[in-house]
Amino acid sequence: MVSKERGTKMLRLERVSKFYSGNGLVSTGFSKVDLEFDIGEFVAITGESGSGKSTLLNVISGLDSYEEGEMYIMGQPTSGFSKEDLEEYRKKYIGSIFQTFNLINSYTVYQNVELVLLMSGYDKSEIPGRVREIIEQVGLSDYEKTKASKLSGGQKQRVAIARALAKETPIIVADEPTGNLDSQSAAEIIKLLHQLSKDKLIIVVTHNYDQVEPYVTRKIAMHDGRVAEDKRLRVTAIQADQKETEIKTAKADSLSFGSMVRLGVRNTFNIPAKFLLLLVVFIFLCSAVFAQYSSFMYMGEMTTGGYNNYFSDTDKDRILVTKPGGGEFTDADYAKIKQIDNVDKIVEYDLLLDLVTNVTDDSEKGEYYVTTKLGEAADYADQLEEGRMPKNSNEAIMICPRDQYAAQYMDVIMDKKAEVMDQNSGNAIIKDKIKIVGYGYMTEEQQKAMEESDIYLEGYLCVNDDTMANIRLAALERYCTQEIELANHIAEGNSAAGVMPIRASSKVPKGEIYVPEDVDAMAESGAVGKELKLTNKSLYFEDTFQFKVGAVYNKSNLSYYLDRDDFDAISGTLFINPEDYGKMFNKGNFQSSVIVSDYKTAEETAVKIQKAGFDTFHVNDGLISYSQGFDIIQETLRTIMLVAMLLVLFFITYFITKLILKSRNVYFSTIRMLGATKANCSSLLKTELFAVFNIAFFFCIGVIGIIKVGNFQGKSLLQNTSMNEMLSFLTTGDYVILYVVLCLMAILLAARYARQLFKKTAMNAYKEEV
Ligand code: ADP
Ligand code: MG
Repeated sequence: MVSKERGTKMLRLERVSKFYSGNGLVSTGFSKVDLEFDIGEFVAITGESGSGKSTLLNVISGLDSYEEGEMYIMGQPTSGFSKEDLEEYRKKYIGSIFQTFNLINSYTVYQNVELVLLMSGYDKSEIPGRVREIIEQVGLSDYEKTKASKLSGGQKQRVAIARALAKETPIIVADEPTGNLDSQSAAEIIKLLHQLSKDKLIIVVTHNYDQVEPYVTRKIAMHDGRVAEDKRLRVTAIQADQKETEIKTAKADSLSFGSMVRLGVRNTFNIPAKFLLLLVVFIFLCSAVFAQYSSFMYMGEMTTGGYNNYFSDTDKDRILVTKPGGGEFTDADYAKIKQIDNVDKIVEYDLLLDLVTNVTDDSEKGEYYVTTKLGEAADYADQLEEGRMPKNSNEAIMICPRDQYAAQYMDVIMDKKAEVMDQNSGNAIIKDKIKIVGYGYMTEEQQKAMEESDIYLEGYLCVNDDTMANIRLAALERYCTQEIELANHIAEGNSAAGVMPIRASSKVPKGEIYVPEDVDAMAESGAVGKELKLTNKSLYFEDTFQFKVGAVYNKSNLSYYLDRDDFDAISGTLFINPEDYGKMFNKGNFQSSVIVSDYKTAEETAVKIQKAGFDTFHVNDGLISYSQGFDIIQETLRTIMLVAMLLVLFFITYFITKLILKSRNVYFSTIRMLGATKANCSSLLKTELFAVFNIAFFFCIGVIGIIKVGNFQGKSLLQNTSMNEMLSFLTTGDYVILYVVLCLMAILLAARYARQLFKKTAMNAYKEEV
């Protein structure tokens, strides 16, 4: 409620001019107009086309600015009004009716009227009653749920009147409201306007004065942008009463959040074609971003190659496990670890994983040289192509991919003794050479697994359990170092490096040790019968043994003591009884490896193993990268690429969205004329795109889910391994990141579009569209 001082006119224009400038020309809408209006008047503005009627009305409505003079509302000057002030002015004072109706065609009658109340922040509870009442007043109760596009011209203008009157503004302006109507409908509309707005100021622009003549209290004629005639025809009811009236202004709150969401959702679906087009665009955006992001993650995994000085098998699915303080693993320990999720298997003696062996001919002709890993012969029994399965100790079969390097040597290798050596040290693992007794080919699956391994391999050397045990023992020995103390002299032994290696020989009695001459020298040639203290050390244990030197061997007595004749090959070796050898080296496992079923959860699994009371080391984390510092550059480049791709996608989507949303310009300029602010329009658009985006996003997630389930169940139609492989790099966290990124993209898209829309004034935007 605003009270005006006695004598103040409600609306007053003082030498107001409106100019249009464009193309370097300045044209005049109207100039130096002096007019006063008061509540209760029903004013007709007439004049030929181009005389400035519409321009005047738009300035009065606050839809257009003016360049000269001053317009007062309730005595308050408006020339200094900001955009926000003008928006408030329109909401409080102005109800507009247009020649072209300006209804939202995709809304029902009810929704069109409701819209203006929502815009002014009316309470949800008071809206329905108010809307129905006014619809009844304009005689459209039967059409409440009809879409505006289905109404006749007369009916449309009734909706427009209802809309203008729904919020109780003191001023109603109508620009040729009957211009598009037949004469009968036109007469009815004018009558209705007159009936419903007795206590308001009504300004009607018309070029059919006769039609309004029976009702108007005043006639203003415009000519060439100036007021040519201003005639008062009747006394208004209020003037007749000679009373000062209070002027009621309409509510001018803003669209509430709840109403904004409701309108936004309504807008999302009410034009099905637009909704579907936007949905397709957003599905394209989501799937392109998913693809980009997952390939980014995938590439990231692929480029982090490297090596480790201690472990050959650096596959990502391997977790090294030890006991705190370095104890031996018990069966109970293994049982405990096996229960942890994602633990696929435990390689109890895991040095075998790191043992890459080269199988080569012993002829020194260098005919073949095959890099292999050890395997269990029993696992490949079905695949044997030639020869037989291993029967005796130190027999093996070779399993290699068909048609590759190793395959051409299989026949050559057969029946020959191969030297198996540790690739890292270049030393033979088993001096007693292994005899290849058969060969076979890998299945495609096995070949793939081999090729995907981080180690370069050409085949598997597969042996029986007892040979495996021999190799294990031999390998264990290689990982130990020894300290021997004889007659107060101390010497260091290191099998792996070939320094004083220890070997078992059944010729040596238990508790004794046969030493070579150079060790004998330590005791100044009197070693026999002396005590030799041998301390055996590994990363995990240290044991001391006492031996009595039983013999000193040399080239000439070798065959007598040890039943051998290869002095050069064994020079420097210490021999002990096999039982003592077993005691020294055949220890339990101090280090085992867990192979996880899905390497992406290796970290999680490692934490679980730690919680179960073990120490872990994810071998793949300890890699020394092949590319060294180049990694960071690569990573940065990839990230830049990803961001660039996202930007490109954003702009592609923006331009397509812009084309689709062009059809929404009418909607937005219309609601602006009804009092929607820039912020309102922007929020509505954001809500709309946000809704479409969510549907698109979850649609894509659904499709991904189907692909995954399809793969899981091995259904051929949906099975797409490479896609599944890529998608498997996306974790829940990634989906959340993508959701947020895409969400921001959708909202930015809306914000950008809204900014463009608001570069123009409401009126210009509207004129361009209609
Ligand atoms: P009426 O409604 O009386 O037919 P208008 O108010 O639409 O007349 O136009 C008044 C004058 O202003 C005309 O000369 C017209 O060419 C000019 N005019 C109206 N709108 C624009 C505009 N957007 N840009 C430039 N000139 C305009
Ligand atoms: Mg006009």
